[in-house]
Amino acid sequence: MAKKMVTGNPAIWIDPPGAAMYCPGCQHPVVHRVIADVIEEMGIDGEVICMLGVGCHAFVQVAWNIDMLSCAHGRALDSGTALKRLKPEAIVFTVQGDGDCIAIGAGAFVAAMTRAEKITTIMYNNTNYGTTGGQLAPTTLLGQKTTTTPRGRDASVEGYPAHTAELAATFRGTVYSARGSVHTPANYQRTKKYIKTAFQKQIDGAGYSFVEVLVACPPNWHLPPVECLDRIENELIVEFPLGEFKNEDKII
Ligand code: SF4
Repeated sequence: MAKKMVTGNPAIWIDPPGAAMYCPGCQHPVVHRVIADVIEEMGIDGEVICMLGVGCHAFVQVAWNIDMLSCAHGRALDSGTALKRLKPEAIVFTVQGDGDCIAIGAGAFVAAMTRAEKITTIMYNNTNYGTTGGQLAPTTLLGQKTTTTPRGRDASVEGYPAHTAELAATFRGTVYSARGSVHTPANYQRTKKYIKTAFQKQIDGAGYSFVEVLVACPPNWHLPPVECLDRIENELIVEFPLGEFKNEDKII
């Protein structure tokens, strides 16, 4: 009996070499796939424009066949603001790492939410600066060893992990904020729903929308890929709970 194909790649997916750029067990390509699925299911591939930050997430430029712009480090939201104002009919979204969004790009992030820009951010949180060798990031867990905190993050010296999705929810200009993960099939589906909702808020002209996604970084976590999934479940989610933190139809 002929086998029936029950799934396939979304039309915007270029594979290979897109996913081949990443370390084994990296979950960035998984999130790329979630976003690509959402774009296909919503039928918006001709309308989206992606603003890329700097970091491992930016390799998505060889994984998707859509309009994209590579931005200066931390400035994807500034560039996205300009583009959305010039082309308001476009669905503009930024793809950023935690370092790009809440460290070097924190000013642009706060400013975009303050101005209630009608754009969407998807932030990949792997709790370190993966591309440059695993340095401390604002999201690094207490006790986590990085190349700049070899004895582990110490709150008395380096402070506490930044809770970006919760922060985003406190801004009036933000209408949607959520945090998901892709470490189980159920969470993959939930994250897909969050990203779809975030895009829909922009399409409806409601305000700024934000989705943070927890992702594994095996080489910088010094763990095999399967143990990274346990770490997400037992450590990351304890610090960074999953769910929706804000869901409004308009700015209130
Ligand atoms: S360094 Fe980490 S985030 Fe970057 S590609 Fe490797 S696993 Fe992924």
